Amino acid sequence: WKRLTQGLTRTASSLSTGITDLFTKRKLDAGTLEDLEDILIRADLGVETSARIAEAVGKGRYEKDIDPEEVRSLVAAEIEAVLKPIATPLVFTTDTKPFVLLMVGVNGSGKTTTIGKLAATLRDEGKKVVLAAGDTFRAAAIEQLKVWADRTGATIVSREPGADAAGVAFDGLAKARADGADVLIIDTAGRLQNRAELMAELEKVVRVIKKQDPAAPHAVVLTLDATVGQNALSQVEAFRRVAGVTGLVMTKLDGTARGGILVAIAAKHGLPVHLIGVGEGIDDLQPFAARDFARAIVG
Ligand code: GDP
Repeated sequence: WKRLTQGLTRTASSLSTGITDLFTKRKLDAGTLEDLEDILIRADLGVETSARIAEAVGKGRYEKDIDPEEVRSLVAAEIEAVLKPIATPLVFTTDTKPFVLLMVGVNGSGKTTTIGKLAATLRDEGKKVVLAAGDTFRAAAIEQLKVWADRTGATIVSREPGADAAGVAFDGLAKARADGADVLIIDTAGRLQNRAELMAELEKVVRVIKKQDPAAPHAVVLTLDATVGQNALSQVEAFRRVAGVTGLVMTKLDGTARGGILVAIAAKHGLPVHLIGVGEGIDDLQPFAARDFARAIVG
């Protein structure tokens, strides 16, 4: 909780200060509610959600004095209601081992770091992990994944830069099976600017995996960088089309005032949000909890 509130300080302070300034010594009326709606929109919560929250806050309270603290808790409750249905843990269970997790996301979104953090969490749970370096486009991505494998004791499967990503995925699954690993995490390229190429590549990865295990991949998780704000919405749309995303991880919620974007994404897409990143460290990946998050961003 402490890490979460610390991480979300910037989002919280922008919302919290805005609400305090607005409702100190002012009655709740159409004007203040409109201003509240603006504050929520500026905090990236999305136009429709912001309108709905302002309406809920106003209900039965017109022309009354209202304490900023009460507004904050009303706003938090509304945000919690939006987030509750989508707060879903990532559960690594399958009928047949390994659980295959395909990680997708644009370059720089925190995909590799999230894979590393997940590998650490799984190791701490006593699970055996194989990482497949499927972002063969960037030599640095392969190297970075190797560093995480060393750090977490995971086994890494890679080929030379430029190799076929589906081949790496194939090797990864074969290795995971041979070793009796619990989880295989496949990194992928994040070149959304070459959408057709990326789609073909990801489709091939999935095809090759399915040939060996029709139930796999068991999850396709998209990493989203919170600092890009509204752009995250178009990334969700693009990757849903390109890769059949089953869930989300939002990274870099620390150091941004744009944490509200998670609420807009929840309202628009209804996709499960599994985890959030609140720092670069190995322990900075947290389960996503609707109530805690809602309270943390309102401050
Ligand atoms: P990829 O290109 O998607 O694999 O992205 P990386 O995993 O390489 O991450 C890009 C940068 O973002 C790196 O410098 C990471 O340390 C940093 N990063 C990733 N997740 C977080 C996070 O939750 N918070 C912060 N502050 N930085 C993060």
